[in-house]
Amino acid sequence: MTSPVSFSTSKISRKELVLIVDDTPANLAVLSEAISDAGFETAIALDGERALIQISQDPPDLILLDIMMPGIDGFETCRRIKADERFQNIPIIFMTALADVENKVKGLALGAADYITKPFQEQEVLARVQTHLNFMRTKEHLAASEARLTGILNSLKEIVWSAHLHPLEFLYFNPVAEDIYDVTPEEFIKDSSIWLKMIHPDDLEKVEALLVNTDTPNLIDCEYRIVRPDGEIRWLQCQAQVRSNTDSDRLKMDGLMHDVTGRKQVEGELKYAAQHDSLTNLANRSFFREKLNELLNRPSLEQQEHFAVLFIDLDRFKIINDSLGHFCGDQLLTKVGEVLKQAVRPMDLIARLGGDEFTVLLRNLQETQEILAISDRIQAFLKQPIILEGQPIVVSASIGIVQYSPKYKSADQLLRDADLAMYQAKHLGKACHQLFSERMYAQAMEKITLEKELRDALQRHELFLCYQPIIDLETEQLAGFEALVRWQHPRLGVVPPINFIALAEETGLILPLGEFALREACRQMKVWQSHYSEPLGFTMSVNISERQIQNLGFVEDLLAIVEEANLKPSQLKLEITESLLLDNRLLTLKVFQRLQSLGFRLSLDDFGTGYSSLSYLHRFPINTLKIDRSFVNSMEPGKSSFEIVRTITSLARTLNMDVVAEGIETEEQLNYLKSLSCEMGQGYFFAKPLPGAEATEYVAQMLGNAQLQVEAA
Ligand code: C2E
Ligand code: MG
Ligand code: MG
Repeated sequence: MTSPVSFSTSKISRKELVLIVDDTPANLAVLSEAISDAGFETAIALDGERALIQISQDPPDLILLDIMMPGIDGFETCRRIKADERFQNIPIIFMTALADVENKVKGLALGAADYITKPFQEQEVLARVQTHLNFMRTKEHLAASEARLTGILNSLKEIVWSAHLHPLEFLYFNPVAEDIYDVTPEEFIKDSSIWLKMIHPDDLEKVEALLVNTDTPNLIDCEYRIVRPDGEIRWLQCQAQVRSNTDSDRLKMDGLMHDVTGRKQVEGELKYAAQHDSLTNLANRSFFREKLNELLNRPSLEQQEHFAVLFIDLDRFKIINDSLGHFCGDQLLTKVGEVLKQAVRPMDLIARLGGDEFTVLLRNLQETQEILAISDRIQAFLKQPIILEGQPIVVSASIGIVQYSPKYKSADQLLRDADLAMYQAKHLGKACHQLFSERMYAQAMEKITLEKELRDALQRHELFLCYQPIIDLETEQLAGFEALVRWQHPRLGVVPPINFIALAEETGLILPLGEFALREACRQMKVWQSHYSEPLGFTMSVNISERQIQNLGFVEDLLAIVEEANLKPSQLKLEITESLLLDNRLLTLKVFQRLQSLGFRLSLDDFGTGYSSLSYLHRFPINTLKIDRSFVNSMEPGKSSFEIVRTITSLARTLNMDVVAEGIETEEQLNYLKSLSCEMGQGYFFAKPLPGAEATEYVAQMLGNAQLQVEAA
């Protein structure tokens, strides 16, 4: 490294060596003394050859060179010095009596720094020596500084660049640009459009806008992608400063570009994880909602596109999951995700909301028919068996569909209605789709209101029982009553059970409701019994729902209720439906056996309408079959319903059960049933379901006890 430069004439930190070459000893002596006195080291040579030897042995910092010398002259000596790379930077000042311009030019052309004509003034020589030494030191310093800078710029991982704006014209790129762009700095400087052409098409607009809008000095910070000549895509972050230019009216821009591809990848992975379901790799709920909200918030949506949301819920997934295990369940969900991808179009967004719920956003739809076709395709694709642990599994799905309308302001509203439609599809027997409609919404709202009101109804004692007589068809005597619940609704009047039993079952309200019916029916029996010394010769039938039977404390509660009313279990008939015998058979069988051993009787309600699998009948301790009123209603000899009734009665006889025909409305029907030796019947022909007081009157009439009537009233 060179020493610090000093511009002072006397004080220099290290003595610099000046070589004086002249064939006149007198000149040498004078000059040498003057220069030494000024604080320099001096060396002398009497001719060119000796000067060259001297230089190679101890290179001076400056040479004062005479031209006219014996042997090689000053010009030749200069030429040879300049030809040697080691010495070419040593400033040479010619000293000669040859004062013509031609010689001066020749000397300068050979690389001389300056020219002094003889006879010389010592002061002038010293001033020139000083100036050229200073000049050389400055040059050396500059060169060193530039070398340092170049070293730094070359070692940077960031691109450093400089350009003129309007139009864009690159002035500098450090070498790392080539590593990142695979294009040399020279190529960019030669043709700046190469740089623009490499910007990813999706980012070009953004970058061009930045360049165009830089009409005042400012800071720029942006990220964009480039496509390298080998096709690789890289992410760059560009930070630049726009400045006004001192020597031109064009703006200048200097900046850094970082290759942020790695960071972008990690960011991308994190973003992906936050937006996707890790099991199926489909979008997750939050991403789906985000996309949907984006779509809803776009301006002038109506003209743009029509879209729809499918809400897909697998049917009976819980059974598969419980029976095959969660691992298989997960595999199934993954496979379903793949099936959905095949069934929809590439532009559609599929998400897994959680559990076995999936959603699809269908965009750019022309007509409703398209949505239905896609739904059908999903069902068809799901029908193909999925192999799990060697076992083929067939799944189906219930699909709710909601189509965009301007009333939707948020994703949640769309999802809510799609969910509602899906729920409706489940309700209609699963494996189908339902389009959301306003009517559906109104019904759902009604249901929610009704549910709330039903909850209150139990507390406010708005429920009451009616009793429909069951008649022994042979003797026409009272064989029993069926207790049927009613709801005295404050707004709607008397609501029949068909309007609220299913809802009660869905919501679990059937448990308190069922208990109420049992308690109330037993209480009524107790009241009737209190008027007779003999035990009542008829039974009380109470409808029991599946949820009640499956409820653990059911038998104990039932026993307590019966005991409280001083009834015998045999006075109570529990009406259950066929579906109970199909599901959870073992549990049901045990409960039934227990009930039977305690003396309760069991009736199979609405017989013939359900699954009617005869194989299970003999295994359950059933006492009575109740023929559904749909058969009784349409009974006529020769008609199939007549034959069904005949079959049921003879089946009951074989299995040692008795039969009650429901819904007898005419004498004709009664006669047919009698002809088939059906034991008992119930229906409007005998009596409608009667409120407590009327039922009491009916009992009195049938049992011939006027006393009872009076007391009850
Ligand atoms: P169900 O047990 O089959 O009751 C017989 C239904 O047939 C009753 O309807 C009754 O009023 C009706 N019915 C009787 N005779 C005739 C007739 O000659 N013609 C016509 N058209 N209908 C007749 P209801 O009272 O509306 O009850 C409907 C269903 O609600 C019942 O069918 C039963 O499944 C359920 N239910 C009623 N009360 C309760 C209850 O306390 N608990 C449970 N779990 N379900 C109940
Ligand atoms: Mg019944
Ligand atoms: Mg029935």
